Amino acid sequence: MGLYSGHINKLIEELAALPGIGDKSAQRLAFHLINMPKDRVRRLADTILEARENVRYCRECYTLTDSDVCPVCSNEKRNHRMIMVVENTRDLAAYEKTGRYEGVYHVLHGAISPMLGIGPADIKLKELIERLKGDVEEVIIATNSSLEGETTAMYISKMIKPTGIKVTRIASGVPVGGDLEYIDEVTLLRALEGRVEL
Ligand code: ZN
Repeated sequence: MGLYSGHINKLIEELAALPGIGDKSAQRLAFHLINMPKDRVRRLADTILEARENVRYCRECYTLTDSDVCPVCSNEKRNHRMIMVVENTRDLAAYEKTGRYEGVYHVLHGAISPMLGIGPADIKLKELIERLKGDVEEVIIATNSSLEGETTAMYISKMIKPTGIKVTRIASGVPVGGDLEYIDEVTLLRALEGRVEL
């Protein structure tokens, strides 16, 4: 406090509140922004605002998208009877990058975590049940191999079993606690191809 002007302090504070940005990075970014040409700063600010205002949930799979229905869900060539359940839009992107998955997705936006107080009602599970009333052949659970991911997989499997729909889980071998987005495509494909029925 008192070292910098009030405006700079406020900027550092806002940046430091973002995930993965410590105090030092926040300071570096703040000074970088202040030294940038004004029109570039404005473009950055506008981009953030536009993304925040225009990105929404896909009406079918709940991934974050610019349109009412995302490109995957609106693609008729995809197998709409195969649904892969992932924790977030970044995981979906990781599987899309392999270019080999032909089904569609369901994005939970989180995982069940009793420790963090995140229950089944806090993620997009109701929405998944709703989708299962349609013509669905297989649900592939591709949540992370973290404790939360496994808890969520177990919950979903128990929930779907009575419906008679085939439930599979991607093969382990995906590093424990590893975010799917950091895993290379070959490993992801192997995990997908080696999925086991629950
Ligand atoms: Zn979609």
